[in-house]
Amino acid sequence: MNSEAGELRRALSRATGSACSVNVDPVLVLHGGAGALRAALERGLEEEPFHQALRNAAAAGWAILTAGGAALDAVEAAVVSLEDDPCLNAGRGSVLNQDGVCEMDAALVCGRTGRAGAVAAVTGIRNPIRLARAVYEANGPVLLAGAGACAFARAHGTVTAPPEYFHVDRRLRQWREARARNHVMLDHGETGTVGAVALDRAGRLAAATSTGGLTNKLPGRVGDTPLIGAGTFADHRCAVSCTGTGEAFIRTVAAHNLAARLRWSGTDLERAARAAIHEDLAAAGGSGGLIAVGADGAVALPYNSEGMIRAVARAGQTETALF
Ligand code: ASP
Repeated sequence: MNSEAGELRRALSRATGSACSVNVDPVLVLHGGAGALRAALERGLEEEPFHQALRNAAAAGWAILTAGGAALDAVEAAVVSLEDDPCLNAGRGSVLNQDGVCEMDAALVCGRTGRAGAVAAVTGIRNPIRLARAVYEANGPVLLAGAGACAFARAHGTVTAPPEYFHVDRRLRQWREARARNHVMLDHGETGTVGAVALDRAGRLAAATSTGGLTNKLPGRVGDTPLIGAGTFADHRCAVSCTGTGEAFIRTVAAHNLAARLRWSGTDLERAARAAIHEDLAAAGGSGGLIAVGADGAVALPYNSEGMIRAVARAGQTETALF
């Protein structure tokens, strides 16, 4: 789509403030974390489960987009699928904090309305992204944390699960290794955070991200994922989901950094995304990547780590990659 048509659609969508009938080719982009994957593969970790996790999540989100559903619903469904997959660091299979507990963060943003919902340091929530959606729907606070978020979950009937649901053997092993070395580890050796961004038929954009954070992190530590503008952001120009060393993404406000470059410097999505990662994140000493989709269907997936587990789905085709 050329930029004139894109501008027309944006003007239409601003005028209606709701779903309009513009018939855009939908796009869904996913990530399953960025990091030093080769060493993990050399230790015997298999690639195929990651490709399969991405394909399953793409199918869940794509079914909504092709039926004319909302980008927000598609990114939520895709992230639920990724959270349910124990090979990824979100929901089931999340890494453990210093107390041996899975404390999870999640957020989603609707680019059309600018509304957002996020949760931080929640425990026992089967799908943190569903809780973030409940916060979004309540349309009050944007971010709920810890015990208050869990109380909100109980009041809203969000599905919970016992600790053994989240714990998988690999995470316990990583946690013991990290404790023995007194390390706080970005889980990039094996997988990471999960995220999805989408453009729907009506031209709406949305982003969602979910994570267990860092192995052996301090209880109460919150990463970039649930901070709107740092790890997750969407407006009517782009939708962005990040993965990597959370503190650097927070300090460079990475997701909004991309959106601001797009808005104010007149550059394109690819350049804005590359600058956010290869200039600003790198200068802050950060490692990781992001996925982004623009209102014209353009896609960017830059990373400065060894690899990033990722997928792009459009026109019914899903391409997955790790490096
Ligand atoms: N960004 C996440 C955090 O710092 C970790 C990751 O992406 O793997 O919590």
